[in-house]
Amino acid sequence: MKRTIIVAGNWKMNKTREEVNEFLNGLTIEEGDSEVIIACASPFLGEMVKRAQTSFPRLKVSAQNCHHEASGAFTGEISASMIRSVGAEVVIIGHSERRSNFGDTDEWINRKCASALEEGLRVIFCCGETLDEREAGDHFRVVESQIRKGLGDHDLENVIIAYEPVWAIGTGVTASPEQAEEMHAFIRSLLEESHKGSMRILYGGSVKPENFKELLAKPNIDGGLVGGASLDAESFGHLVRIGDMMMS
Ligand code: PGA
Repeated sequence: MKRTIIVAGNWKMNKTREEVNEFLNGLTIEEGDSEVIIACASPFLGEMVKRAQTSFPRLKVSAQNCHHEASGAFTGEISASMIRSVGAEVVIIGHSERRSNFGDTDEWINRKCASALEEGLRVIFCCGETLDEREAGDHFRVVESQIRKGLGDHDLENVIIAYEPVWAIGTGVTASPEQAEEMHAFIRSLLEESHKGSMRILYGGSVKPENFKELLAKPNIDGGLVGGASLDAESFGHLVRIGDMMMS
């Protein structure tokens, strides 16, 4: 059975309210069979959900991080239950920028995943090696360890994995379709039999309309987690059309 392709935008810390509206006013998403997700900054989650409901029924809204506790004295953090309460359905956990800039450890990531899944959110779980790790031939071991420690014994039913080599994020250097496919097949081989066939494994790292089709043509690449190229409505719409085309 063909897995449904996911086209997920990760806006990171970009766009003011005006810019969010400008993007949505300029976005065209026709009918199609791929899944479409946008991870916006937390102040806009509720508004994005409303706009999606009225104008883009295929669009699911995602947060970019959450805390593992439901509430409490954690200044500056947001919880999975808060995300859920404004109607967002997805959360990105373990992005490399969180791991390297904000100290998200495998253990924290594991707890965040538990909390998000318990709350009924879907999790986009990110993993990926640095350039040094790849050059040292350590990339498979690193990714395996991130997956085993971060996802642990969680039920993977509502998990989407995103392989994002750190050296390809925001650099304009994309992993070759062969490099990505090799890692995606490896990640799939780590999964329990019950999820091997169904798990969506997204590639992230300088995905753009010019390279997306070639990546999606690989058997174990089920979509993209897209930063820079998701910020522009036309380019994001183009990526969605490519996803739809590869589903048909
Ligand atoms: P990029 O970011 O597409 O700008 O490389 C991807 C990501 O960090 O999710």
